[in-house]
Amino acid sequence: MTSPELSRLCIHTITNKPWPIETAVEEYARAGIGGITVWRDALDGREPSVVRKRILDAGLAVVSLCRGGFFASANPAVRAEAVRENLSVIRQAHELGAPHVVLVCGADPKQPLEDSRVQILEGISAIAGEASRFGVRLAIEPLHPMYADSRSAISTLEQANDICDLLDLPEVGVAIDVYHLFWDPHLPEQIERCGAAQRILAFHVSDWLTPTRDLLNDRGIMGDGCIPIRTIREQVVRAGFDGQIEVEIFSNSLWASDQRRYLDRIIDAYRRHV
Ligand code: ZN
Repeated sequence: MTSPELSRLCIHTITNKPWPIETAVEEYARAGIGGITVWRDALDGREPSVVRKRILDAGLAVVSLCRGGFFASANPAVRAEAVRENLSVIRQAHELGAPHVVLVCGADPKQPLEDSRVQILEGISAIAGEASRFGVRLAIEPLHPMYADSRSAISTLEQANDICDLLDLPEVGVAIDVYHLFWDPHLPEQIERCGAAQRILAFHVSDWLTPTRDLLNDRGIMGDGCIPIRTIREQVVRAGFDGQIEVEIFSNSLWASDQRRYLDRIIDAYRRHV
């Protein structure tokens, strides 16, 4: 399989965090990129509908809104607040024109992971009706197990598939991120399982650096690490995914670099390694 077209490339606003969203939109459009995924912090002080118009006028697609979730907590008041917050994220996605919201589902070190998973199920159930009303889908993103303490009790694609099967709701699917899932020997069969249920809503790429110097903000550009990105992309495409391929990189060193040159490197890496 050869590399996909540039129009299939989407970049997350957080990848070029130093740029305000207006600059990111202008630069991505100039480069011929097809889409943008908006992180909520990029909307601070802005009307989502105005941002939507700017994105569409530039010829880009709004691919998704990042992120909702964080449903798990030992404190019931915190869980109730999370549900309220997610309802407003869904409305924000609707105003922005984002077809789905990525869910980082949450975990609480004060309780067992099993408890967090039950609360995640309850949280998604509580917001699914609103998602359906606004035509916004919910993408459960499994996170690497190094984040199982406080960010996500959903660490594998199998767990995400299990939750989707239990919920059995058309608006709920998964986001597959190579950074979080490349290590899992069951990944190919779980991607097939997603395909059979037609639930792959998003595909995120970056690379795993050795050594990784920061657990959160030291992701690499595709090809700079050890993830077999093209192999996983082929599996996802075989499973029926035909959406945009999203570059999501958190990196202190890349954020500190020249953002235009960094964008050129992303495009080159996309052509050669995705
Ligand atoms: Zn991701």
